[in-house]
Amino acid sequence: MNVYSIFESINGETSISHQGSVCTFLRLWGCNLDCTWCDTKYARSDPSDNSLPKRYEERSVEDVFFDLIRRRNKNITTTGGEPLMQYNTVWLLLVALLAKSGIQVTVETNGTFYPFVGFDESRRQKKLSYVVDYKLPSSGMEDRMDWNIFRELRDTDFVKFVILTEKDYESAKEMLKEFESLKSRYSIPKIIFSPAFLPEESGIGINYKGEKGFTFLRPETLIQLAVEDHLNVIVSLQLHKLCSWGEAK
Ligand code: SF4
Repeated sequence: MNVYSIFESINGETSISHQGSVCTFLRLWGCNLDCTWCDTKYARSDPSDNSLPKRYEERSVEDVFFDLIRRRNKNITTTGGEPLMQYNTVWLLLVALLAKSGIQVTVETNGTFYPFVGFDESRRQKKLSYVVDYKLPSSGMEDRMDWNIFRELRDTDFVKFVILTEKDYESAKEMLKEFESLKSRYSIPKIIFSPAFLPEESGIGINYKGEKGFTFLRPETLIQLAVEDHLNVIVSLQLHKLCSWGEAK
C-alpha cells in the first residue's frame, strides 16, 4: 500500500464514530481528482504539478494492519488523497479489520468509487461506514460525480457537501431533493454540509470571488442559511482545524 501516514487524533468531522471521537487515521497516497480547494495536496499526486514531492512509503497490508491494531483505538478512519485508488489492498485490509471485535472503520472517499461489495450486509452497516464527498461547483470536479454511486449508500453512511460559495449551497440544496426522492426505495445516507475551511493565506476565497463572481460563504452564514431553510442536514465544522491540531492543519 502507498501510505502517506498513520497517526492518531480525533475525528474532526462527522462520522458514524462521532465527531471528536479518538481515532487512528490511515492516510493513503494519491488521488484521481484535483479539487481547487484541496487541503491535502501533500498526500496526492496532482497530475498538473510536478513540483510536489511524492512522499509515501510502500507497505504490505499485513504491516499496515498490525500498525493500526497496535494503536488500540476502536475507531479507524481511512482517508487520503483518495483511499479507494488502492481498491484491492484496501479491501483486503478491511476484511482483516472487520474480523476484529469492536473495531469500526470509516472510509472517506471522493464520490468517484463504488462502495465495496462482498461484505455481509448487517456486518457492513454495524462496522463499516462511508463518508462520501459530493463535489460541488467550486471544487471544479462536479462533472466527475456519478449519481449511481450515491444510490449504493446506506443510512449508516454519510454524504458530505463541502461548501465554499453561495452557488455551492444552492447546488447542495438541489441535490438534497434528489436524496429525498430515494426515500421510498433506498435507505438514504445522512447529509453533511461542511463549510470549506481555508487558511487565510490561501487566498482562495478572495480569488474565487474575483474570478467567478460568487460570494465566499462564511461558516456562520452557512449555519444561518441551513436554519432558515429548515434543512435536514448536519452542519459540521472541522474540529481539528478550529484548534489547529493534528496533521491536516
Ligand atoms: S478528492 Fe480530496 S484529496 Fe482529492 S483533490 Fe479533492 S480534496 Fe484533494
